[in-house]
Amino acid sequence: MKPYFKIFRRKPLLCSNCFTDEGLKIDAFRIGAKNQKRCRSCGSTTGRKLHKGHIQTLAYRFFVRGTFNKTEYGGAPIVQYNEHQCGENQIQFSSWLQEDAKLIEQALNIGFFFYGPRLWMIGEVEPLKDLLEPSKKEEIIKRVISVYPEYQLSENEKFYRLRKNPKSPEKHSEYDSPPKEFLGSYRLDSPELPILYASQDLEVCIHECRVTVEDELFVSTLSPKKNLRLLDLTEILDEDNTEFESLDMAIHMLFCAENHSYSISREISLAAQKAGFDGIIYPSYFSNIRTGAIPFDTIYGLSVRRFPTYKTYAKAKTIPNIALFGRPIASHKVVVQCINRLVLNKISYGFQFGPVETPPTKEQEEKLQAFLKDIENSKNEFPDPLDT
Ligand SMILES: [Zn+2]
Repeated sequence: MKPYFKIFRRKPLLCSNCFTDEGLKIDAFRIGAKNQKRCRSCGSTTGRKLHKGHIQTLAYRFFVRGTFNKTEYGGAPIVQYNEHQCGENQIQFSSWLQEDAKLIEQALNIGFFFYGPRLWMIGEVEPLKDLLEPSKKEEIIKRVISVYPEYQLSENEKFYRLRKNPKSPEKHSEYDSPPKEFLGSYRLDSPELPILYASQDLEVCIHECRVTVEDELFVSTLSPKKNLRLLDLTEILDEDNTEFESLDMAIHMLFCAENHSYSISREISLAAQKAGFDGIIYPSYFSNIRTGAIPFDTIYGLSVRRFPTYKTYAKAKTIPNIALFGRPIASHKVVVQCINRLVLNKISYGFQFGPVETPPTKEQEEKLQAFLKDIENSKNEFPDPLDT
């Protein structure tokens, strides 16, 4: 590519002051470059300038990530865009966003539309549906126990258990599994099976305990007395099937789901104990918020977890939590190495913005379905709407 052409491509097309929507303006300011020349669109000299690459980042961040809608299991963005929808005006945005969206559509030659997600993204995954079905769940749980690898937690490793407002913070027993009356309240414990929840990531411990600045916090550093056998549910399975049939996706979605999913994860936990494991390593519910990962991230509509080259990336976006069965401190499987007071001295949040738009009305949905049918009937091969 000739150098002058490169310079032309990187010419700023818009600036952060081009926009009216406050969230979009702030996100554009964060993304854009300092440049005191007059904006060719609005004439401002103080806005951060946006060339095509910046605008692509802004469009994806604000309209796609900013409309991610979590469903019972899984989730997907409400809005997507591509060049085939250019000029179609599929979405009537709020009055303050309408002109901003047009500026972005024109700069990128694209059109925004309400996205009809692939059904696996919103929980249409066979092994997950089977786990919810009393007559079929046992078979899937057996598969989980046999397919996922074992991790040996060695005596050289340490992990943390956080307590808020314990009665006697200096006592080792305060850091064991909760007493009888609290059993059956969390993701993996049940009246039959107490669980000591811990993590090697202190920030995750703090999130998981839902602490506030008013709480008195204490953290214990723990180590196994001898190697512990853990069922590792953070592993990304190598599978030769689609997302619809994927056990890996089923377990991933299970641990991203809220308390409506606990009855299933508790049964997996009981089965792992019966199979002789000392505990489970499982993905923290807060993995995405801790690592900035995109939940159920896709490339061309396929989960990134399916691409061998992305496996390391997807694994790095998972924060493991440790769940140990029984009362491992009382039974001397785990030793308390140290106890500290933990003082919160700063709380900061990372955030971005999105439009207020909600999922499409029935009429808009019908329009979208008609459009998708047109694409299917077309002789031209269109890429997936996610291929933007
Ligand atoms: Zn401008």
